[in-house]
Amino acid sequence: SSKNRVVARKLSLPETEKTGNRVTVFVRVRPISKKEKEADSRCCVTIVNPRDVYLTEFVNPNGYLRLKRIRRRHFTFDACFPDSATQQEVYSTTTSELVEGVLQGRNGTVFCYGATGAGKTYTMLGTVESPGVMVLAINDLFGKIKTRSCDGNYAVHLSYLEVYNETVRDLISPGRPLVLREDKQGIVAAGLTQYRVYSTDEVMILLQQGNHNRTTEPTRANETSSRSHAVLQVVVEYQVRDAAMNIIKNVGKLSLVDLAGSERALATDQITLRSLEGANINRSLLALSSCINALVDGKKHIPYRNSKLTQLLKDSLGGTCSTVMIANISPSSLSSGETQNTLHWADRAKEIRTKTWMQANDANEDLFPVIETGTDQATLVLELQKENR
Ligand code: ADP
Ligand code: MG
Repeated sequence: SSKNRVVARKLSLPETEKTGNRVTVFVRVRPISKKEKEADSRCCVTIVNPRDVYLTEFVNPNGYLRLKRIRRRHFTFDACFPDSATQQEVYSTTTSELVEGVLQGRNGTVFCYGATGAGKTYTMLGTVESPGVMVLAINDLFGKIKTRSCDGNYAVHLSYLEVYNETVRDLISPGRPLVLREDKQGIVAAGLTQYRVYSTDEVMILLQQGNHNRTTEPTRANETSSRSHAVLQVVVEYQVRDAAMNIIKNVGKLSLVDLAGSERALATDQITLRSLEGANINRSLLALSSCINALVDGKKHIPYRNSKLTQLLKDSLGGTCSTVMIANISPSSLSSGETQNTLHWADRAKEIRTKTWMQANDANEDLFPVIETGTDQATLVLELQKENR
C-alpha cells in the first residue's frame, strides 16, 4: 500500500541521513470551506500519492463561467496530507519523532506556514474536540515520561508567547512587552512565564486561554490578527546522577510555531500604524526566510538578529536542532496564487542541511541516491487522463 512505501523509504535512508538533521517538509490541505464552495471555486490541489502534490492553475477566459486548466505544477514533499487527514495522523507523522528527541535532550521545532485561513492554527492548536499538534505533543510527552522508570526525574515547563509588530508578549500572563536578552543559554525573553505543567488537560486550558490573548484586528474583534506569530516552547528537563553522584541535567526543547499569515501585506489605505504592522510582520517572516536561505546555502553567518522571531528561534533553527515545516494550503482555486507561493517556499525549505548533514557533491554522490518517490506511475497516468478529459 502507499503507506508501506513511505516507511520503506525511511528504512532505506543512508546512515548519514539518519544522524543528520534534515528539515522535513509537509503539506496539509484543509477541507474546502462553505464560502469557497459558494463562490463556485474549483479544487486546484491534487494529492496523487503520499508524497506528491499537483497544483493546477486555471484561467477564466473571456469571463466564461467554465474555468480552463492551463498548467500544472508538481511538488514533492516528505508527506502530503489530504483534507481527510486527522489531527492524530498529522501529529504522528510530523512531530512524534521530535518529541522522542526532546526526551533525549535534543531541540526540535515545528512551524506552520501559510496564508491566513489556510489552517495553521487548526493544525497547531486545533479545537477542544480535535486538539492539534501542540496538545497532542504534550500529551505524548507525558505518556512517554510515564512509561520510564525514573519519571520523577522529569520536569516539563512551557511558555507561550506572541511576536506581533516586533513586540514580544507573554500569552499566558499578558502584561508589558518582553525584552529579549542574551545569556549563557542563548536568547531569552526576560520575564516570560515558565509554567510547570503536569497534565494534558491543564495544558489545553492554558493554550486556549493563551490563544484568546493573541492580538486581534481592531476591525474584527474576535479574530486573531493575521500578523501575529505564536510560539509555544516546551522545555523538558531530566536529572540523573552520574557515578560520582553529581547531578547531570539534560534539557530538550520543543518549539511549536504558528506563524503569521504569509500573504503579502494587504493593499492598505489604513492608518499608518497598520502599514507599520504590515512591514514588521514582513520583517519577521522575511527574516525567517533569509535565515532559511542562508541555511540552505550552507552560509556560515545566519542572520538571526534581523527580527524578534528569528532571535527567539536561534537555537531552534539550524544547528543540531530538528526542524519540521508544515505548509498549510486551501484546496480552492480562489487561493491558488497564495498556494503556489506557499508550496514554492516549502519546496525551498526542503533544501536546508544543517551542520551534521553531509552536503551532496560529486565525490559522495552514492550516499545521496535519488529517492524513489513512490509514485505509482499507473495511478498517476490514470489521474492525469481523468483530469484531461
Ligand atoms: P489560519 O490559522 O491559517 O489563519 P485557521 O486554522 O484558523 O487558519 O483555519 C481557518 C478555518 O478553517 C477555521 O475555521 C478552521 O477551523 C478551519 N480548518 C482549517 N483546517 C482544517 C481542517 N484540517 N479540518 C477542518 N477544519 C479546518
Ligand atoms: Mg491562525
